[in-house]
Amino acid sequence: MKGLKLSLKTEQLTRTLVPIHNLMIGRDLALIAGPCSVENEHQTIETALRVKKAGANIFRGGAFKPRTSPYSFQGLGLSGLKILSKAREETGLPIVTEILDPRDTYWVAEYADILQIGARNIQNFPLLKEAGKCGKPILLKRGMQTTLAEWLYSAEYILSEGNPHVILCERGSRTFQTFCRNTLDLSIVAAVKEISHLPVIVDPSHGTGRPDLIPPMCLAAIAAGADGIMVEVHYNPDEAICDKDQALLPDTFGEIALRSVALRAFLTSDDYQSGSSL
Ligand code: PEP
Ligand code: MN
Repeated sequence: MKGLKLSLKTEQLTRTLVPIHNLMIGRDLALIAGPCSVENEHQTIETALRVKKAGANIFRGGAFKPRTSPYSFQGLGLSGLKILSKAREETGLPIVTEILDPRDTYWVAEYADILQIGARNIQNFPLLKEAGKCGKPILLKRGMQTTLAEWLYSAEYILSEGNPHVILCERGSRTFQTFCRNTLDLSIVAAVKEISHLPVIVDPSHGTGRPDLIPPMCLAAIAAGADGIMVEVHYNPDEAICDKDQALLPDTFGEIALRSVALRAFLTSDDYQSGSSL
């Protein structure tokens, strides 16, 4: 693809593996779950314990929330990060949390294991550059109307600052249809795998906004070659302050996790790879 460099397979022949605690993203399936936002200590710890039991290997939760309305809950900020640290202590799960402001990158990196750059900030170039210098892996979500080339250029802002640990995340685009929140683009997962060495995961929670569609889209993402999934889970979805309508129960996530692991095992089996079981 014209103009791109560091994110392409032609530049780096081996796949990028991102080490996070005892996981290697790109080799081990990432099963990321947790609430849209950190609301309070009880909600966060309870959800963390339950997603851990259900099979999650990374915990998510937003302390800084990018909200359409300035009047909506904006996240707990520093106290949210402290709650996330406590969740990590209690569960042993590494934490992914979003950064919105380039000025926050360094100190937030002290609390998080992975920093997330959200869909709305895909072309926030100062933020991307800071993310390239912060020393932590970056989960880079595709924007709502971002082409494959634009997404990879954004990744290259991070890579070119010296941070090789970028994980891409497809989260749906804005289209004409109204039956779900966004249109999840799984074809881009296969396209990324074809041209880039970076790992790519899928977020069907924001990608569909519909609890009934999240489980099948998780499996479809893995079948398309995704290196993991990220799902919004709340111990009591009815009470969720943020993205309540798409929050899953921990047990539902447990079913997704079991099937995801089984599907991945099948896809990587010698029989499947060689075609002899087909
Ligand atoms: C999120 O993951 O909490 C989030 C805000 O997602 P997105 O940037 O994809 O809308
Ligand atoms: Mn959300």
